[in-house]
Amino acid sequence: MIDLKTIAKFREIETPFYYYDLDVLYSTLNQLKKESDNSGYKVHYAVKANSNERILKIISSYGFGADCVSYNEISAALDAGFAASQIVFAGVGKTDKEIDAALRAGIFCFNCESIPEIEVINHIATKLNKVARIALRINPYIEAHTHKYITTAVEESKFGINTWELDEVLKKIAAFSNIDLIGMHFHVGSQITRMSVFKSLCSRINELQEWFSSHGINLSVVNVGGGMGIDYENPEKAPQFEDYFSLMNEFIDLLPGQELHMEPGRSVVGQCGSLISRVLYIKNGNQTLFAILDAGMTDLIRPALYQAHHKIENLTSDGSIYRYDVVGPICESSDTFAKYIELPETKRGDIIAIRSAGAYGEAMASRYNLRNLPKSVFSDEL
Ligand SMILES: *Cc1c(COP(=O)(O)O)cnc(C)c1O
Repeated sequence: MIDLKTIAKFREIETPFYYYDLDVLYSTLNQLKKESDNSGYKVHYAVKANSNERILKIISSYGFGADCVSYNEISAALDAGFAASQIVFAGVGKTDKEIDAALRAGIFCFNCESIPEIEVINHIATKLNKVARIALRINPYIEAHTHKYITTAVEESKFGINTWELDEVLKKIAAFSNIDLIGMHFHVGSQITRMSVFKSLCSRINELQEWFSSHGINLSVVNVGGGMGIDYENPEKAPQFEDYFSLMNEFIDLLPGQELHMEPGRSVVGQCGSLISRVLYIKNGNQTLFAILDAGMTDLIRPALYQAHHKIENLTSDGSIYRYDVVGPICESSDTFAKYIELPETKRGDIIAIRSAGAYGEAMASRYNLRNLPKSVFSDEL
């Protein structure tokens, strides 16, 4: 809930901006910490979901690790206090320069997606006289039942190593002097709300455990990736970490001494953030009314990019209900946050909250149209 006192403060602040409710963030992190402590499963926060400096510092203060997809993210994670020994580095296109810097920083593990990548890591590690710990990101061929642009683990995907290539991968790795294979890694997709998807992942993992064992390979890490969805209809609803952890506990057969790692992103930060904006104009269309905001797809691209749904609230009106297309000011038709939604009568100057915007919001902002990047405001600064 965004309370009246907070709304009164919003009136004094230039819009648009991201508002982060620290009570929500702390309560989410406390829940996650509790589950992680109880299970012994290790959490690596997926930095790409939100790399705001203060948010990273808060998350690192819980002792979690970081899952990074560029060296700049690794560098931001280190600056925010994450331990190098708890940083993993994922991505299909790590550059030589990034690999070199990550090896020098002494990160925990590279999550690798192809033979040529492992070859380059071996080459650079040899030059630096270091051993690179790697995990294989394996394509589990599971349909995530989410939007196709955020589905990663179907058959012809750029992500992950195909199981038919695993024999070859092991052969190569055996010949690489400076590679230490420590784990298997998965990431099925994002915004997954059906627990059955994770259950299928557990079965695939158990099969692969047997495959590796039968090849005489002991892996110390099983990394299940991220993907836990949040409820965009109910911004007040916390993610169901308890269900997720108990599902992993019930369905993955870990071998003695094996650690389970996970990489939640959206579920950690999604519900604590809202994009706050002002209505610039109400414009008549043929059939609909347009509420034109001062925030646009450059501030929050998810609706334009994935037809994502965010709950939209007018914080300063309690008039009778009308229907609006809520749009931004950018010169693109896709710059639309929602079509034909009910809002209380909306006027120029009203303050609009686009909820559940803590993940893949500020982190994906751009300067298209040469707009300013959105600022961030934390609840304890008001
Ligand atoms: C994006 C990503 C995550 C985080 O996904 P969420 O859906 O935000 O939890 C975790 N691991 C990898 C490899 C990713 O690419």
